[in-house]
Amino acid sequence: MKNLEHIVITKEGLKDPPTKSISQASRISGVYPLDGRVKKLTHCPICRINNFTEHLSGIDFLLSKEEFTIVRCANCCFLFTNPRPEDHDLERYYLSSDYISHTNSSKGLLNWLYQKARLFALGKKLKLINNLSQKGKLLDIGCGTGEFLNICKKNSWLTRGVEPSDLARNQAIKNYKLNVSDNLDLSQFDKDSFDIVTLWHVLEHLPNLEETVDHLELILKENGKVIIAVPNYKSWDACYYKKYWAAYDLPIHLWHFSKNTISQLFTKHGFSLVKTKGMILDSFYVSILSEKYKTGKENFIKAFVIGMLSNIMGLFTKRGYSSTIYVFEKLKIVERL
Ligand SMILES: [Zn+2]
Repeated sequence: MKNLEHIVITKEGLKDPPTKSISQASRISGVYPLDGRVKKLTHCPICRINNFTEHLSGIDFLLSKEEFTIVRCANCCFLFTNPRPEDHDLERYYLSSDYISHTNSSKGLLNWLYQKARLFALGKKLKLINNLSQKGKLLDIGCGTGEFLNICKKNSWLTRGVEPSDLARNQAIKNYKLNVSDNLDLSQFDKDSFDIVTLWHVLEHLPNLEETVDHLELILKENGKVIIAVPNYKSWDACYYKKYWAAYDLPIHLWHFSKNTISQLFTKHGFSLVKTKGMILDSFYVSILSEKYKTGKENFIKAFVIGMLSNIMGLFTKRGYSSTIYVFEKLKIVERL
């Protein structure tokens, strides 16, 4: 996976900037169609059962226009994209590298708003980690161009990053002098070495789900925290837009979590859920994109109303916000069931 620029701009909670550039799906980085080269999971990665039903079929609206199916495990209700492209084919479904320059543009009111929202989200994330732990060692997986790591470093955290995209990683190193690895293999890190590990809108992209959670457990100190931001398909905006919901983001979102399923996954690997937090800005951005996918038009006012309704429902009901931050703590062996 080289071209993870799409992830780069998910770091601050908003996935892509709400600019006209998001609708320019002409920057295709691969050749289509897949010609049947797909990977089919035979067992649910959470409960190992091999009985699935179809949740929905949706289109890769941004690039290939190919159709993919999301299945639901009949036992634990986990949703995942199945079949999906082979691991080595996934990078073709990410936007090409010139995407970064669009995201860093400061032209136009919407981009200005996006940059302000980005700063707001960065401040919130820093506050979250400072409230969770004494300052120590922090790893950001999929750190993109390094803005989050930079603000942590300035606040006396010892920071490491992982970013497979050459373009984003080089910017992180050049702009902020960060220590960023190109290798997503977490076995490169020492056992019990981090106080905090963060994955901001990254876990849903990683093909080896169980292996990743196993490695997170290994590299965290006892009572260390892993912070994971992922879309929530039970949110009101997801239920409103259905197959047009932009945060399904097929096929590059391989896993679609709810509070229940992500908790099952991490509990199984020695973690305990200690905190959840809604991401109130995501509903607006996701609704802008979803509205465009559904109607073919940009309708910012309607998207704003849907985003606001989703946040209200997230606040007052159990369905949750459009995206959720989960904080899991690595339990000591004696604390595990
Ligand atoms: Zn299952």
